[in-house]
Amino acid sequence: MNVLVLNCGSSSLKFQIIQTDLEMIEKDADKQLAKGIIERIGSQALVSFQAAGKSAVKHVTPLRDHKAALDHIVKWIISADALIPGIQSLADIHAVGHRVVHGAELFTKSIIIDNAVIRGIEDCIDLAPLHNPANLKGINASRELLGTGVPAVAVFDTSFHSTMPESSFLYAIPYQLYRRHKIRRYGFHGTSHRYVAFRYRQLTGKTREETNIITVHLGNGCSACAIKNGASFDTSMGLSPLEGFVMGTRSGDIDPAVLEFLSHKEGMSMSEIDTLLNKQSGLLGISGLTNDMRDLLDEAKDHQDRRATLAINIFAQRAKKYLGSYLAELNGADAIIFTGGIGENSAVIRQRICSNLEWLGIEIDEQLNVEKVGGKEGEINSKKSRVKVFVIPTNEELLIARDTVRCVLDVPRKI
Ligand code: AMP
Repeated sequence: MNVLVLNCGSSSLKFQIIQTDLEMIEKDADKQLAKGIIERIGSQALVSFQAAGKSAVKHVTPLRDHKAALDHIVKWIISADALIPGIQSLADIHAVGHRVVHGAELFTKSIIIDNAVIRGIEDCIDLAPLHNPANLKGINASRELLGTGVPAVAVFDTSFHSTMPESSFLYAIPYQLYRRHKIRRYGFHGTSHRYVAFRYRQLTGKTREETNIITVHLGNGCSACAIKNGASFDTSMGLSPLEGFVMGTRSGDIDPAVLEFLSHKEGMSMSEIDTLLNKQSGLLGISGLTNDMRDLLDEAKDHQDRRATLAINIFAQRAKKYLGSYLAELNGADAIIFTGGIGENSAVIRQRICSNLEWLGIEIDEQLNVEKVGGKEGEINSKKSRVKVFVIPTNEELLIARDTVRCVLDVPRKI
């Protein structure tokens, strides 16, 4: 089955075509046939397309909305330029898998999209006003362009965390606010946490029941998940993806009193404060330079920039604090998994987060750590370390494609 995987942001659209079926899933033999990204939808869009085994082709073209962007992608997919093996016409796209950010308590697993599901995703817009509308644009565009006869599946960022107990997901505010408005912690990056936990089981031969680990996704957005007996027990993001770690431009945990204080002192509206905490804070806010960890590490090393160093220190300290609290919540863990752009590529940050934890049984092997960059997978702990530490590159698209196949064939998921 050729699955078109779509990940729609407010002004971007990422896609992959993945060939997969139950036998290929069993043998881990799924094939990525093509991938691409369109950014700056709504004006002169930046387009990058790449068929497997070929170089990326890039161009700039005006694309007014997500439907125009998807139309551009679809035309390329079936064009002579792309020459994607096994894809001659639109009939060769057998299903579509959509990343959907917020499923709230309505969607606890991936699901075939019909009108009722679309209404459900619309009902979650209140909780994810930036993300769900963009995801819906992708869903509507693909229904219009490919037809409703092509099955489409929604895979939610929140659903992996639906196993969290009340003690993890409730905020300590009046309980009726949870009843009335469903104000609670939902968690995000679920597809990534779920994928790396699955890979951990593949690499170690552990069963789901035996999976007691902490997964740490460090990218532009960052979150950790405490996984107990294979299920999410706690996670660092909350009602929205703002809670938890210091991130590229997000503050992460902050005393809510700061909001009132800011509004008094700076005369800011709630929406301005929301923008400040989501878009102007985190690594960018502290350093005053950039949200990009790679550039910050360079600035700190090459120019001893004080605020770049401070941003890195605060980032690593907050991550360590979560690691410690999750180790306590789980009564210890068998492994820590690093993933995401920073987690997969920065030996320095991994070392910083795990430093001085030998007393907890965590010790990194310096050589193994520096080797695991650029998509390499494997252990980075020393032989003495009681807790294993892994780098596992995430692959959310693969999981979306596999969930899509299982939903379409109505087969219960294994991962
Ligand atoms: P993601 O959102 O998962 O694509 O991750 C993006 C983040 O990963 C950015 O902050 C990048 O600077 C960071 N990143 C990518 N490569 C490296 C690297 N080699 N060292 C440090 N950070 C990196």
